[in-house]
Amino acid sequence: MTNTNTNTSATAAANSLPMHVARVERNTLNLVIGTDKVFIELVCPHCGRAYSVSYPIDGFKKWASGAHVQDALPNATPTEREYLITCLCEKCQEEIFG
Ligand SMILES: [Zn+2]
Repeated sequence: MTNTNTNTSATAAANSLPMHVARVERNTLNLVIGTDKVFIELVCPHCGRAYSVSYPIDGFKKWASGAHVQDALPNATPTEREYLITCLCEKCQEEIFG
């Protein structure tokens, strides 16, 4: 009955999040699920500024379960999609991607 790995459950919880979601989660300050939208407050990893964005719940769930962001959120702007890929704020996206 010896348990050599005391971190098993914590590790399992961390691993249950897909990598692309875990990356966004690290930069998430707040996430509120409304009736038809998900409101997310993110921190830009480049400049540290906080900003908010919302996505339709259906599309957000599709993205979280592994769909490509452009397939899951076809109506999101390229900037809004990039938030879910790099978490960069609009200003830093302009700076970095031109
Ligand atoms: Zn920024």
